[in-house]
Amino acid sequence: MFQRVTSRKSRTTQLRTRAAVLVAGLGASAVLGSGVASAAEATSATSAVAAVEAKTAAVAKKKAAGWVTPVKHYKLSASFNQAGGMWSHRHSGQDYAVPTGTNVVAAHGGTVVKAGGNGAGDGPAYGNAIVIKHGNGTYSQYAHLSRIDVRIGQVVATGQHIALSGSTGNSSGPHLHFEIRTTPNYGSAVNPVAFLRAKGVKV
Ligand SMILES: [Zn+2]
Repeated sequence: MFQRVTSRKSRTTQLRTRAAVLVAGLGASAVLGSGVASAAEATSATSAVAAVEAKTAAVAKKKAAGWVTPVKHYKLSASFNQAGGMWSHRHSGQDYAVPTGTNVVAAHGGTVVKAGGNGAGDGPAYGNAIVIKHGNGTYSQYAHLSRIDVRIGQVVATGQHIALSGSTGNSSGPHLHFEIRTTPNYGSAVNPVAFLRAKGVKV
């Protein structure tokens, strides 16, 4: 009897240790393959496995998407390709209505290739602007900023703070103008909302 209790305790400890190791990132087979001591322990080990697997899947999905919206809380205002008196041609990006001073983040990791006034070389209509180069011929642009907090050549991570929003340049009110481009320059923009949604981002 004494022997049996000891044996059970030892197996339970073993299982707990293995479950802890699993939480640290190892596979499920080590726990389930070891001969489970009781139904209760089996259930607890199985749900621990399920929880770890669900968390791993969520992290993997987030990493795969790898893109975020440039501001967190916003209302979509002027949309891509919209016609109107504010633009010399059609609207080249998506406007996110946010108060001046809102935290603006890199929609994806990359290298800052433009940062400054006069649209950082793309024209005064953009006000203070930033362009970030990503992989695969993709660039993101952020305009009408009140403050720029990065410099050319700086490497930024997805979601990293880069600026504060504002209303500089040709702007009817505080908002972030956001573009996805195929080159660093004006004239190469694609629909940024469609782009982000294709990356699995909720916009
Ligand atoms: Zn705009």
